[in-house]
Amino acid sequence: ASRKPLDMVMERKKSGEKRQTRVKVVIRVRPPLTQDNSKICVGTAGNKVEIFNHRNIKENLQYEFSSVFDKSSSQREIFEVCVKPLLGHAIKGENVSIFAYGPTGAGKTYTMLGTEEDPGMIPRVMHTLFQSLPAHCGTAAGPALNAASDHKVSFSFLEIYNEKVQDLLNPSETDLPIREDGNHNIFVAGLTEKVIRSFDDFKHLFGPASKNRTMAATKLNDRSSRSHCIVQLKVDSRRGNQVYHGKIYLIDLAGSEDNRRTGNIGIRLKESGAINKSLFVLGEVVDAINNNLPRIPYRNSKLTRLLQDSIGGSCHAVMITNVSPEESFYYDTYCTLNFATKSRKIVNSNTASISVDRPAEPPKSLKRSHSESQRVGG
Ligand code: ADP
Ligand code: MG
Repeated sequence: ASRKPLDMVMERKKSGEKRQTRVKVVIRVRPPLTQDNSKICVGTAGNKVEIFNHRNIKENLQYEFSSVFDKSSSQREIFEVCVKPLLGHAIKGENVSIFAYGPTGAGKTYTMLGTEEDPGMIPRVMHTLFQSLPAHCGTAAGPALNAASDHKVSFSFLEIYNEKVQDLLNPSETDLPIREDGNHNIFVAGLTEKVIRSFDDFKHLFGPASKNRTMAATKLNDRSSRSHCIVQLKVDSRRGNQVYHGKIYLIDLAGSEDNRRTGNIGIRLKESGAINKSLFVLGEVVDAINNNLPRIPYRNSKLTRLLQDSIGGSCHAVMITNVSPEESFYYDTYCTLNFATKSRKIVNSNTASISVDRPAEPPKSLKRSHSESQRVGG
């Protein structure tokens, strides 16, 4: 655990080992939701994010990411920078996954789904795909062919709830099995796949199916989702006599909040455990990929098993990590930033490059047991 990624890169270069595509991790800080003077505790500058250190108020914790999007960033900007460049890979027959990670209330659903006025990544991907498919066909060797017959987009919509895989286009209690074919493609056996030919086709399927999602109230947010919600697009493209099979996953992950704070008991606590297991394993998988470790623990959760052929290897993945700026979310933000990057340093708050509003004293809720601090700080 003490080995640094850089050492590993050097070792890999020496051994001439083939390098995996890293999972790109970006941060999005949502705008404050109210005008009141609830304190803001997250600062951003360039590709850095800073929060105060609750263990030593004179210090700030500074984290570095591929990109940082602050409160003024638009859906369009995030799409153009993080998502659109990946779509071409899917048309070339490679696998792509785009997921939103973060605690409840931090903006995952806003980022992935958005609103009618300001659509998120899912509708933008659909729109761009249908717009660009004929053009892409034209850039291949030879003249542009009829888009309708040369590309096929199949839409599936599923959720992983309590470590069970459920089909949202054909809801039932059945836990669908995740399997692997002879070419190491992962698939969900029995999952509904609908061919869609236009953005309207997508809207007709997606709108009603979204309502099938499992929602349960928690103390933190009554629209909190307990499930991982997954759009799967299969993109088949024919060029000459070759057909390329690409796959795109668009994932609104379950909330990553610390369940000890949400007052979850009984059945809810069991669900929380399952959600945390998948998210915990996802963290290990992303870490293993980005540090080029020999063993990647895909099989340890349903979510990572499903994503096995779509993150790591030659796949293209981006994790949009959502955080809230308000001090009341400090602990969630702290845990999320620690989860999202190991690239962290402590800076003196007086000389910090980013000014972060800080409380006179750490909030009381942050007084944690030693073992817990160790766990999240790791
Ligand atoms: P999550 O899915 O992570 O629980 P939501 O996406 O539901 O969080 O966001 C929580 C609230 O914040 C919602 O009311 C949402 O409309 C709002 N929100 C989130 N991100 C933004 C943003 N970038 N701009 C404006 N409002 C946002
Ligand atoms: Mg949500």
